[in-house]
Amino acid sequence: MSVPLVRYYINGQWEEGTTWTFHPVTNPATGAVIAQVPFASASEVDRTVKAAHAAFLSWREVPVIERVQVLYRYKALVEKYAEDIARIMTTENGKTFEDAKLSVRRSVQMIEVACGMPSLMMGDSLHNVSKDIDSYSIRQPLGVCAGITPFNFPAMVPMWMFPFAIAAGNTFVLKPSEKVPLTPTRTAELLHDAGVPAGVYNVLHGGKETVDALIEHPLVRAVSFVGSTPIAKYVYTTAAAHGKRVQALGGAKNHHVVMPDANLEKTVESIISSAFGAAGERCLAGSVLVPVGDVAEPLLKLLVEKTSAMKVGNGIEPGTDMGPLVTDAHCKKVLGYIEKGVTEGATPLLDGRKTGEGKTGFFAGPTIFDNVTPDMTIAREEIFGPVLSVIRVKTLDDAIALVNSSPFGNTTSIHTRDGYSARRYAEKIEVGMVGINIGVAAPMAFFPFSGWKASFFGDLHAHGKDAVAFYTETKVIMTRWV
Ligand code: NAD
Repeated sequence: MSVPLVRYYINGQWEEGTTWTFHPVTNPATGAVIAQVPFASASEVDRTVKAAHAAFLSWREVPVIERVQVLYRYKALVEKYAEDIARIMTTENGKTFEDAKLSVRRSVQMIEVACGMPSLMMGDSLHNVSKDIDSYSIRQPLGVCAGITPFNFPAMVPMWMFPFAIAAGNTFVLKPSEKVPLTPTRTAELLHDAGVPAGVYNVLHGGKETVDALIEHPLVRAVSFVGSTPIAKYVYTTAAAHGKRVQALGGAKNHHVVMPDANLEKTVESIISSAFGAAGERCLAGSVLVPVGDVAEPLLKLLVEKTSAMKVGNGIEPGTDMGPLVTDAHCKKVLGYIEKGVTEGATPLLDGRKTGEGKTGFFAGPTIFDNVTPDMTIAREEIFGPVLSVIRVKTLDDAIALVNSSPFGNTTSIHTRDGYSARRYAEKIEVGMVGINIGVAAPMAFFPFSGWKASFFGDLHAHGKDAVAFYTETKVIMTRWV
């Protein structure tokens, strides 16, 4: 093969896969194949999980203050090589270099919070719960934890998981998206250089067979998944049926409600970054715009004007506002949704179908549909591309009812200058992450990533204190010394 083969990281060693199933990794800006990724077999998964389990037996004995020293060194290395990581990310994912650098910064914040594990995993204690009896609780690691991650944040989403898991004393096997294996390879090299002991962190590549072997393996205690809703549901039910602790984050359809009193300039800026940033390939992307009352006309006029000025191209080139979509297949799917919007009767104010013409990369331009009705496909399904559907409503309560009718509940934002509207919206909305005058309401590392409804299956969310609870088991100890 003329392109590099991606390797696994197992028990502290880099290995070539032994199977003959490969997946091409493409540069979405050019369409060129830049690597081939092998798919791990069930026996490779078994060997990796056993190595991770053997490592767990000694890693859990390492005091937490020593465990986090690895992460302090790792944080310094990820910061040092942030541009290197971001460049790789842009090359395989397509997002702009500036956006990629921001996502590396967010990844570093995850490591920073996980470095606080000595305080975060403290238990409680109470003396004299009964005569001469004291009681205290401790948090202990679970064992081998598995992470299965999507293509859109190849550094950050794995870091929602493994820094917390490892700091708490677990060992970890990551199965990143086969579409973007090069970023997780680079970040694993840096964790290796930071001195993570053999077997504590491992990376395997693959698809369904690899995932099934991981989530059913008897030595895997917990499974963290991030991806589309159907696969999240499948991983949640399958892993739970095999006795695992599971958190499975799914897809989204996020609404931005704009009140007549909103600051239009700021609102349009926020909506453009939310709907078209990362070409709409974010689980927090705004994909339905809900203007309330007579704000629709001036809002859409300004939105179309500003969006038309966006520069779409290779994300590695300075000045690019929006890059390509991740793969040819995904690009065709997004173009198909635009087609569907037209045939179902929505009005295209901006139509991105021609943007990719004559290009070898996977491009769709920013698209805005007016006069969308809630029953249309583009109003209901996650498109995961730069397509914004506008559903006009008369009142705030109409907007709340519309948003609450969605099966998804990942994020939503309201744009208003009125405190009452903002408060009412935040109170009544059945969505787990709410922005008030915010484009992308992404919780910082010390808060949980709180999707609801079909956007999340499980109890404990990713990062924040939830991650500490997810990756530990509580033990309560009663003592009497007489
Ligand atoms: P995906 O569901 O196709 O893939 C996610 C992971 O599951 C990958 O590692 C993939 O290899 C694996 N996988 C795919 N098919 C599988 C199968 N049949 N059985 C077992 N494993 C399988 O998602 P994607 O296209 O990589 O990512 C985009 C999706 O992720 C969007 O729906 C987006 O909303 C979602 N996402 C959600 C969040 C969140 O926090 N809720 C964050 C990022 C992305």
